[in-house]
Amino acid sequence: MQIEFLGGAGEVGRSAILINDSLLLDYGIKTENPPQYPIGDIDPDAVVVSHGHLDHAGAVPALLSGSARPPVHWTPPTRALALRLAEDTLKLHGQTPQCPFTETDVRRLTQVSETHGYEESFEAAGHEVTFFNAGHIPGSAHVLVDDGETRLLYTGDFHTGGQRLVPETTARPEADMVITESTYSDVEHSDRAQLEAGFVESVRTTIWQGGTVVVPVFAIGRAQELLLICEANDIDCYLDGMATEITRTLKQYPDYVRDPDALRRATSNARFVTEKDGQRARLTEKNTVILTTAGMLGGGPVVSYIPRIRSNPTNKIALTGYQVEGTPGRELVETGSAEFDGRVMPVSAQVEQYDFSAHADRDGLREFLSEYRETPILVNHGDACEQFADRLAAAGYEASAPDLGERMQVGD
Ligand SMILES: [Zn+2]
Repeated sequence: MQIEFLGGAGEVGRSAILINDSLLLDYGIKTENPPQYPIGDIDPDAVVVSHGHLDHAGAVPALLSGSARPPVHWTPPTRALALRLAEDTLKLHGQTPQCPFTETDVRRLTQVSETHGYEESFEAAGHEVTFFNAGHIPGSAHVLVDDGETRLLYTGDFHTGGQRLVPETTARPEADMVITESTYSDVEHSDRAQLEAGFVESVRTTIWQGGTVVVPVFAIGRAQELLLICEANDIDCYLDGMATEITRTLKQYPDYVRDPDALRRATSNARFVTEKDGQRARLTEKNTVILTTAGMLGGGPVVSYIPRIRSNPTNKIALTGYQVEGTPGRELVETGSAEFDGRVMPVSAQVEQYDFSAHADRDGLREFLSEYRETPILVNHGDACEQFADRLAAAGYEASAPDLGERMQVGD
């Protein structure tokens, strides 16, 4: 088997791996300014997408911009999320050279799409492929690829700890080679129940004190997880931004969430913001909780909420995930002020950060990989892939971290 790393090697973003020059695993976007895409000029016979996040599925429509029509294989939620992301990318960058695809390409994508459930093998470019629940977001999959000689397990993004939204990964299919993500290879997540209890207590305190809580969330996964947490703890909340549409989308795939009834209850517990700016201004005067995109404050309605609540120290901004360097969210955490609408604004409201991660941490990665002690491991999708590969090697694994553009032969 031949494996070529076209993106996501030593970095998070633009994941893309080409197998035997014919089967492409993921084709993502790295959201920098300008956005970055996988390298190489490729013409795959088939495409398999591990899950519906921008860094794995974002550039898939671009594969249909020429005359080729490779089938695209994914789970039903991944298909829905990828199409939604494509629309959003068109809205943000359409008609600019930064956008690698057009509306026509997105329409073509719906024609070549083939959906598969977990543990139902299918054929793609002459390979036998099987998805297994990866416990990251609804529809997320580990991808097992068998070319007749070598079985490759591509983990995609995964979580070994349970979330309210999706159950954790449990499948450990036999493989001759593993490509693992390593996003949080040097982080230990705090206990999920404790984290949740801390968040709930903090939100309640602000509400009792008469403040407004703005909870920035990522649209896919994190927003729904926070809705479920609010519902389970009797916290009334509003939901705003792209998170509202994604929540409606995910409700249509009850087989891919842990507890569809809980998601239904959580969705009716939340009020969806529809009236735009008038309603937003009124909400910030209220003693309530607002879940809104974007999770790192880089756009979306959160940008109009924060300037309105920022000067009252009773109010609170409760970040719900990692804040990437260079984002307004990171700036706010580090300096107590951030730039919104081109103006740097000091924030007197309280700023807190909760790591409701959807990825395995150091222990989770080791727990997962302990099932593959005898299997060569390639580390990708992380900022410290090399270091993690070295630690694995020191622990007796055969592990390495491929470089961007690296091409390797495994087995025959
Ligand atoms: Zn992901």
